[in-house]
Amino acid sequence: APTATAQIGVTGLAVMGRNLARNLARHGYAVAVHNRSAERTDALVREFGDEGVFVPARTPAELVAALQRPRRVLLMVQAGAPTDAVIEEFAPLLEPGDILVDGGNAHFADTRRREAKLRERGIHFVGTGVSGGEEGALHGPSMMPGGSKEAYEALAPLFQDIAAKAPDGTPTVTHIGPDGAGHFVKMVHNGIEYSDMQLIGEAYDLLRQAAGYEPARIAEIFREWNRGRLGSYLIEITAEVLAHTDAATGRPFVDIVADRAGQKGTGRWTVQTALDLGTPVTGIAEAVFARAVSGHTRLREAARALPGPDRPELHPDDAARFAEQVEQALYASKVVAYAQGWHMIQAASEEYGWGIDPAAVAAIWRAGSIVRAGFLDRITAAYRANPDLPGLLADEGFAREAGAAQAAWRTVVSTAVRDGVPVPGFSSALAYYDSLRAERLPAALIQGQRDFFGAHTYRRTDREGSYHTLWATPD
Ligand code: NAP
Repeated sequence: APTATAQIGVTGLAVMGRNLARNLARHGYAVAVHNRSAERTDALVREFGDEGVFVPARTPAELVAALQRPRRVLLMVQAGAPTDAVIEEFAPLLEPGDILVDGGNAHFADTRRREAKLRERGIHFVGTGVSGGEEGALHGPSMMPGGSKEAYEALAPLFQDIAAKAPDGTPTVTHIGPDGAGHFVKMVHNGIEYSDMQLIGEAYDLLRQAAGYEPARIAEIFREWNRGRLGSYLIEITAEVLAHTDAATGRPFVDIVADRAGQKGTGRWTVQTALDLGTPVTGIAEAVFARAVSGHTRLREAARALPGPDRPELHPDDAARFAEQVEQALYASKVVAYAQGWHMIQAASEEYGWGIDPAAVAAIWRAGSIVRAGFLDRITAAYRANPDLPGLLADEGFAREAGAAQAAWRTVVSTAVRDGVPVPGFSSALAYYDSLRAERLPAALIQGQRDFFGAHTYRRTDREGSYHTLWATPD
């Protein structure tokens, strides 16, 4: 049996597990490595063995035997049933006080269930969201661990070493909260990513269709935006994609890609969960549904003959002014998307008693994560200034910016409606903004209707208590 020399073990050596194991080894940790099929283990040691100390293990028992105590085992296997199967393989080999980390994309409800079950056996289970894809795993991901404080303390030195570093040098990892909190926050992160991408897509579509710009010109506009308040990884890569020419045809790359967006499910989970929590994440929902619409090819073909408006030719000056207005609409819609995401995180934190620090969540997405952006510093600052902030739009700074953008935002949405360009993200964000600021909502009328047909009762604005009106039934 190997001597217990490794500080951490990684099982599941596909692209994510392999890169996290390399990241750990490059930081000086001795890493025991295991994979169901031994080829991946051998390949890792063969190709990257000189990057640090790897201890190859043939079986779960060998991996566990190679670890110092308390043992730290990182699972990087396929989410869902395979994760349960691997947990069942490892749990009997572990002792009370040992730590099992799931770095896969688990549903937070599964993580809650697994954590509770393993806690009964004295094993710490740490469901950890990992953002940044394979590059992030190797060079520094944003990490969202959930589980016991004790387990986090035992993992923190390693996690802080391998995580990305924010511009101020802080590692992008923090203890999110107990049980499913980490995977929950990772889920909302991905939902926000969907929403961010949809809004950027709509901005591109408007610049193309309403302003009449070519992809190469739009790439320049995005590059310019990237130097301002929208500066972010997603804006940066958008410019790269738009500037790219297809080698085979010489056409803009974006024009030869089939316009059907794929999805792996975390956006859908976010919306399903938001429905249960009753938190309106309309931006994420529209983004998930927009991807769904794009994939209904037969329906889209059947509808292609539906009439649309004539698009007016824009004067170049008007096009340039419109591009500036799109920047404002994009920024304001992004504020709404993040406001909704944070609302959801805070609602879940209350529901499950997680005690999530909303400022810290923004701080650990600043590097490594797909939504990394300077903008996140503003969210951290807003919640640090007022931890009881009812929502991001209640922050003075964000409120001022959204208010300053609203005229342009309305112009952009009405131009889109006039020209027949679909902007579900921009328009739903604006509707949310207008709903929040409304003096009176038609919810009053809905309460009247509910009382009429179902005697559901209503409350009054002028006195306490609940009321029911004896409605006269119309003939
Ligand atoms: P993956 O394709 O999701 O999973 C493949 C790995 O799981 C292989 O090591 C495979 O072993 C193992 N596996 C599958 N079923 C198993 C079972 N029943 N028993 C034991 N091992 C089993 O790999 P990945 O893309 O590297 O992702 C790993 C995890 O990270 C997933 O949960 C994924 O959702 C999450 N994640 C992925 C990304 C990304 O960008 N790819 C980003 C963040 C998080 P074999 O080699 O023997 O088949």
